[in-house]
Amino acid sequence: MIVCEDIDCIRAFIKSQKDKAAGLVPTMGYLHEGHMSLVDKAKELSDVVIVSIFVNPKQFGPNEDFNRYPRDLEKDKNLLISRGVDVLFVPSLGVMYDKDFSSKVIIEGISNILEGAFRPGHFDGVCTVVSKLFNIVKPQRAFFGEKDYQQLKIIQKMVKDLNFDIEIIPVPIKREQDGLAMSSRNVYLDDISRHRASSIYSSLLKAKKQFENGLTCVKTLTNIVKNNLDVDSIDYIKIVDKDTLEEKTTASKYDRILIAVRISGVRFIDNIEL
Ligand code: AMP
Repeated sequence: MIVCEDIDCIRAFIKSQKDKAAGLVPTMGYLHEGHMSLVDKAKELSDVVIVSIFVNPKQFGPNEDFNRYPRDLEKDKNLLISRGVDVLFVPSLGVMYDKDFSSKVIIEGISNILEGAFRPGHFDGVCTVVSKLFNIVKPQRAFFGEKDYQQLKIIQKMVKDLNFDIEIIPVPIKREQDGLAMSSRNVYLDDISRHRASSIYSSLLKAKKQFENGLTCVKTLTNIVKNNLDVDSIDYIKIVDKDTLEEKTTASKYDRILIAVRISGVRFIDNIEL
């Protein structure tokens, strides 16, 4: 696996590949099997696979966990080598953001609801860094997890709005055995909180089951989720249209339940398709 720390390196590699289809998997590292399912999908659909690792300060709020976000580059490298990744792009802060950097990519509307309402500016940071990665790597396809469902929808909209010539491939959520969605942040949890966190997925499943039994009232379905959670606080539980993310009052097939909760100071997001 080639490791590139600067833009010339990655561009030289891409140029050397001529017409081969490049697949990009953007990550913030501390990789787990959720990330690896993106890598595996990228391997399946691409001639060369590039994974980026960059903990992007622009998508963290002032009171968020940028400084303590978990990092283990050596472990990540070994995992990527074992999965046959061709290139790891791991730029420093200075490589991504020059001292005079002053641009921002904003996808209006959809970035301000749900996660965006609780994390102002988060998606502007995501869209800015992903645009840069797209321009640096110029992949044919890029792979994003449904774990971050709103992010996936915003990136798809960004690609459409701004005419990036890139196909966005969504990858389903990879879960632990008890259903908790895999996340780099799960390491923050002690055993008790870790156990409580499994109520997130089980409560989503309960609502989905009721929907499959014919219940379509959003208020009732959301209450089912709420009543089965073992969490400290709920930021939101919403049932939304799968593409526009507009809130529904009556649920239909393929709508998504999106949820954000907190347990012992750790924030979790998850979602499920109805
Ligand atoms: P992150 O490193 O958290 O920024 O995530 C990088 C990419 O991996 C994003 O597209 C995420 O949606 C995706 N991802 C993270 N966790 C999972 C998971 N459990 N299942 C599927 N995709 C995931």
